[in-house]
Parts: sequence; C-alpha cells; structure tokens
Amino acid sequence: MASFDLKVHPHRRFNPLTREWVLVSPHRTQRPWLGQVEKLPPESAPTYDADCYMCPGNRRATGARNPLYRGTFVFDNDYPALLAGTPEGEMREGGHAQQKGLLVAASERGICRVVCFSPRHDLTLGKMDQAGLRAVVDVWTEQYRELGALPFINHVQIFENRGAIMGCSNPHPHCQIWANEHLPNEPAKELGALGAYQAARGSCLLCDYLALERQQGERLVTENDHFSALVPFWAVWPFETMLIARRHITGLDLSTDEERDGLADILKRLTTRYDHLFEVSFPYSMGFHQRPTDGKPHPEWHLHAHFYPPLLRSATVRKFMVGYEMLATPQRDITAETAAARLREMRAE
Ligand SMILES: [Zn+2]
Ligand SMILES: [Zn+2]
Ligand SMILES: [Zn+2]
Repeated sequence: MASFDLKVHPHRRFNPLTREWVLVSPHRTQRPWLGQVEKLPPESAPTYDADCYMCPGNRRATGARNPLYRGTFVFDNDYPALLAGTPEGEMREGGHAQQKGLLVAASERGICRVVCFSPRHDLTLGKMDQAGLRAVVDVWTEQYRELGALPFINHVQIFENRGAIMGCSNPHPHCQIWANEHLPNEPAKELGALGAYQAARGSCLLCDYLALERQQGERLVTENDHFSALVPFWAVWPFETMLIARRHITGLDLSTDEERDGLADILKRLTTRYDHLFEVSFPYSMGFHQRPTDGKPHPEWHLHAHFYPPLLRSATVRKFMVGYEMLATPQRDITAETAAARLREMRAE
C-alpha cells in the first residue's frame, strides 16, 4: 500500500483555533473540471437606486432619511437583533433537583449598526480604490473602539455578508456590526484555544502559525508588509481564507497608520482575486476577530479576519453544509493547498 499522502488520501485536519476537525477527501477531485465553468451575465447595478435604504438621501423604513453622505455612513440598524435597554435577568428552571440547568436563558444587551462603505450603490470592496478602502478600515477601527468602550459591551463583531446566495438581498456595499454583552460561540472557542496555547508554550498561536505558513508558502495567497492572506490548513469552505496581521496586535485600535493602509491594500488584492476566480462578483461572509472588549489586555489574542465564500466550482455551483456536515463533521474535496494555488494564479487587479 502507498504511503499516506495529503494530496491523495482521505484524512482529517485539526483546526487549532476552534479545536475542531475537518474531513478532507482529495481523491474525489481527481476528475478534471476546469473548462466547465459556468458564467453568469455581468451584473450591471446602477450607481444609485431610489429603492435602496442605504443610498444617500433615501428614506429608511423607520422614516429616517439618510444624509447625502460622500464617504462612509454609519447608522443604527432599523431592525436590530439586540437592544441596549434589555432588562437584566436570567431563567434557570427545572423540575427535580437533577433536572436543574436544562432550561437556561439569560438576557443579552447589545447594539447593532450598519456601515455603508460608499455612497455608490454599485461598488464592492474589490472595486473600491485604496482611499475608499482605507476610509472603511478607519470606520471599523473607530466603531470597534467606540462600541468596545461601552461598559456593557464585551465583544464587537464586524462582519460583511455579500451576495444574494448568502441571503444578502441588498447589493449596496455595506457591513454590519453587532456589539454585545457576552462572547459569542466562535470567538469563545478561539479565546479558549489561544489562551491554552499561550499558557502551554508561552507564545502566540497565530504568530507561530503565520511563521510556519510563511516558511512553507504553499497556502499563502498574497501578502504585504502588514498582512498575510492564506488558505488555512484546516479550511472548511472551498476557498476559505484568513487575513492575519503580521505584527502581534490584538485589535484594529492598536494598528498603526501604515498597518491600516496595509489592510486596505490586502482587502483589495484578496477580493479582486475572488472576483476573477469564477468571473462573478464573489459572494462570502467575512468578519474580523479582535480581542474581547472586557477591559482586559488579552495578550493571547491576535487580530485576524475570516472569509467564508460558498462557491465551489463556478458562479452557480456552491458548497452546502448538509448531511454528514450537519450531523457529524465538515468535509471538503479540494485541498487547501490546491485552493491557495488557484487563488494565487488570479489577477489582483
Ligand atoms: Zn444603495
Ligand atoms: Zn500573535
Ligand atoms: Zn477567528
């Protein structure tokens, strides 16, 4: 029998950030599929849409009218998932003493905001210029600082859900910020893993991981002096990537002017590659993971972002997380190394 080869044999890979596993089945991608790429007709969005609640000057559902903004624009979500004024309380009910802790609920306070990246209805991060992207990075930084400083806010999640396939009905370039009282599931897993790694080895998990990826190079997509973009070894989504700050910083608020320029630059390079992959404005969910804003320094944390794009083979063929993945563990066919190589080949302009 041939010796074990990650390029050929089914295997599982460990995600040290969440301490979970992904199943990889590279033998299923032996059949060639290049050249069968299905293309969508080019999208032609107008620069202004009178029915868009995010375009400048338009009225929103609540009756508020957007200013005639020229750069970025931040407003409180008109249908927020969280409210700042939720009364504090909890419920722990059970019948017998033995059943205690089976029905647990607790109040959750928070603030939800929307950030428009540009007054232009038709742009995307990949189509914006460096100055426009830098303004977006600055707004993210200010919002993280401002919301994180509130005493009842302990986590600030900045995220962008892009494309109708991701359930985002409005193409106007924007992201959301949900800031809340308790650490959500994914950051909580990462905090546990980053803390345990630092306690055991006295170093930062992501600093060590990034150094390893930069030595090996095969999963790197692109980088500049301040950020690296790579397909993580344990990626679940076909073209999943991570942006990792080259310097050990725990949040955008601690980044330098040059680092913010670097982030704007790498966002452009990465999203442009994505757009060229299947010649479609690439859908994804992306977001930043920054240290919890509970007032502690969290030296174990390391600023990074995740991109989770759903497309698998073309503009219309997507990966679904169903069946075995819902019931057991996520699975992928194309390896992280192959995905990284394909993204590296793409034009970044
Ligand atoms: Zn719009
Ligand atoms: Zn680090
Ligand atoms: Zn993360």
